[in-house]
Amino acid sequence: MKYSLFLAGNWQEPKQSMPVYSPYSGEWIADVPDADEEETAAAVDAACQAEKTAASIPAHERADILLKVANLIEENRETCARLIALEAAKPIKTARKEVARTIMTYRFSSEEARRMPTEFINMDAAPGGEDKTAYVLRKPVGTVGAITPFNFPMNLVAHKIGPAIASGNCVVLKPAEQTPLSAFFIAELFSKAGAPEGILNVITGDGKLVGRKMVEDERVNMITFTGSKQTGLDIRSRAGLKNVTLELGSNAAAVIGEDTDIERAAEKLTAGAFAYQGQLCISVQRIFVHKSKSRELQRAMKKNVETYTPGSPLDEAADFSKLISPQETTRVKAWIDQAVKEGAKLITGGEVEDGILQLTLLTETERSMNVRCEEVFGPVAVIETFETWEEAVSLVNDSKYGLQTGVFTNRLDEALQAARSIESGSVLINEIPSFRLDHMPYGGVKDSGNGREGVKYAIDEMTERKLISIQA
Ligand code: ADP
Repeated sequence: MKYSLFLAGNWQEPKQSMPVYSPYSGEWIADVPDADEEETAAAVDAACQAEKTAASIPAHERADILLKVANLIEENRETCARLIALEAAKPIKTARKEVARTIMTYRFSSEEARRMPTEFINMDAAPGGEDKTAYVLRKPVGTVGAITPFNFPMNLVAHKIGPAIASGNCVVLKPAEQTPLSAFFIAELFSKAGAPEGILNVITGDGKLVGRKMVEDERVNMITFTGSKQTGLDIRSRAGLKNVTLELGSNAAAVIGEDTDIERAAEKLTAGAFAYQGQLCISVQRIFVHKSKSRELQRAMKKNVETYTPGSPLDEAADFSKLISPQETTRVKAWIDQAVKEGAKLITGGEVEDGILQLTLLTETERSMNVRCEEVFGPVAVIETFETWEEAVSLVNDSKYGLQTGVFTNRLDEALQAARSIESGSVLINEIPSFRLDHMPYGGVKDSGNGREGVKYAIDEMTERKLISIQA
């Protein structure tokens, strides 16, 4: 397959192409555009020229387009799942779950289009306002630049273009170099759904070149980004006065209280740590368990890990596969080796077999080790102990990140204390931090970023408030 740029509703032959390889087999899958600065500017042009059209489409029509896209994905569910599996090395069972969530994200976007927030202002609350009536409308910012990572090639794209189009914006989407095919497929579905030309434009190429050009282009009014902290910082430093939403990483923690049903929690924790090989911003990475339950939890998780099957992402039996690149496998393996060298103990895993990194559990780690203080983005979790609830909270907060945290306890005082004192975007009681529904407000504190996604909340970031006051 050879893909073209998707600009103003047309497929435009690029000047140059670049290959996309399967992360699993290393085989060539497709050629996609390797856009230069001029082509990036052309994508922004296409979006800017469609701004007036986008803003004038009534909400009910925007809702219809987004609902049609959701329905088209549903009709093409298996194609979508196979595309994700192929380009991201995501096990097909997990890829199908992503497709189901993508459908939900577009459905929520369709619904939110119809209920764009408006607000009446009580002008008589202050002297001088007695004869005035005022309300606030939401106006689209204009052109949204969306930059997405490889780990959810469809649903993270949906979390950006769904709310942007729901709120009357145009989009230039730059998907990850590793996983552009799902994005092109979605562009095709937008065309089929009757989206006016230029509302969605898709451009691929070198992240630094295309991404930076988009970020620096003054005609792009807002940047919505999901990816690494390092890129987030680069974007923030170049974005000038644009609105910027940054969804960055974390080393998510789960606290397991003394009264927890360990068998049940272990099942969830294993899934949360190792789904898609741990390549989730909210993978379970740091597990803090009450000292009295540590051995039981270690044993239960080890037993669960033994039931997970490695394999090709297209294999129905596979629960995990290779990481996105051999370099990533080498990096994560080196972090494990370093931890072990410095005294950490392996509960299970730690080796690479046929190119697949084993699911790895460590204990007796130090807070300074990469496997604990950095975002691993691989199949590694550490299990450490605590004795008091205060200690558990302070262990969780001993991180530069704060995206989502899971807390298992049946005690109201512990749950409330955790909810109050844990520094993260969400605290989920009796749930793993990897749990996410697509309408939940989602985003981080500290180095995990700023701004919130979750359709309605993303719309908030992608619109300006316009006050209309009438004297009468
Ligand atoms: P990850 O490590 O999850 O792949 P990255 O931050 O490297 O995260 O990449 C996420 C997205 O950001 C990709 O689409 C990538 O091409 C893009 N990107 C990389 N560097 C830059 C940059 N300097 N400015 C804007 N976007 C970038």
